Amino acid sequence: MSPWVAVRVALVAFVLLWILGPSELRSTVPLLLVFLVALGLEVNFLVGALRGAPARSPDRLPQEVDRGRYGFEREPDELVVVEDGDSEVWLAVSEEEDEEEDEADEQAAEPAPVPAPSAPIRRFLVGLGLIVVLVGAIWFVESRTGWDSLDRETKIEASDRFGDEASVIAGKPVSILCDESGDFVGAVQHTDGVAIVGGDHAYLTPERCLDLYRLAFDDEVTGSRTGRAIAVLAHEAWHLRGERDEAKTECYALQSGVELGERLGLSEDRARQLMRQQLTENALRGAGSFEYRVPPDCRDGGALDLDAGSSSFP
Ligand SMILES: [Zn+2]
Repeated sequence: MSPWVAVRVALVAFVLLWILGPSELRSTVPLLLVFLVALGLEVNFLVGALRGAPARSPDRLPQEVDRGRYGFEREPDELVVVEDGDSEVWLAVSEEEDEEEDEADEQAAEPAPVPAPSAPIRRFLVGLGLIVVLVGAIWFVESRTGWDSLDRETKIEASDRFGDEASVIAGKPVSILCDESGDFVGAVQHTDGVAIVGGDHAYLTPERCLDLYRLAFDDEVTGSRTGRAIAVLAHEAWHLRGERDEAKTECYALQSGVELGERLGLSEDRARQLMRQQLTENALRGAGSFEYRVPPDCRDGGALDLDAGSSSFP
């Protein structure tokens, strides 16, 4: 199998697994990274093929080793359509060239056509097209299974529940809005939630709302993503309570997150485990999010320990 085909088959297989497989996969593998790697490989193959093509002597077919390195020098024999819901995925498939035929060609020593540079470019465009189709398929699936797929009543019921839980932490009635427009949180701001310090409402991204909904209404835990969603809800609630400092807010949120997680349906052990995981991930996060890094005081018996009497932290 040529590397062009191998990369595409692997990409399609991964996307199918991502759509159909366990939700843990969705929470652990950043999809954007996978597509960027696939795109990088396609570009790499293209550059390799374009560089390799002029170096070949015009009167000979490429050697086996070169074909292995630069990809197959032929058009795909056929296109295979893989059904994926309502969308179709096109795969280019090539049979291995017959060895005898290969030798016969070389013996005949007929002047082979100079490999047209357009062939690698065409292959590259096919790969690019495949990536676009897969991104479209994922967008389609997400729109059918995401927060947006819930009906209006359910969304309101869920938002009210989140608001009730946030009110417990904030110590006053507050409301939580799941920002579907993306105007406040999401792609642009790269944050999971937004709240005015001391205010009475906060916005969460639809992704976080969906994970909270799954936990509260379906008893479904999507690994560390559920932990993140709980931490984000608690974090915004602490802002609404009046805490301004990001690092302190996060430290308090991870502690309040244990009881919040329990109220949403987790066992105490599971809730603690998820919040500890968030604390570990917080410590591992780079300097890019320095202001969110919890301070050294955020430990059992430290100045930020909300429950000095308990030896559990968070
Ligand atoms: Zn914050």
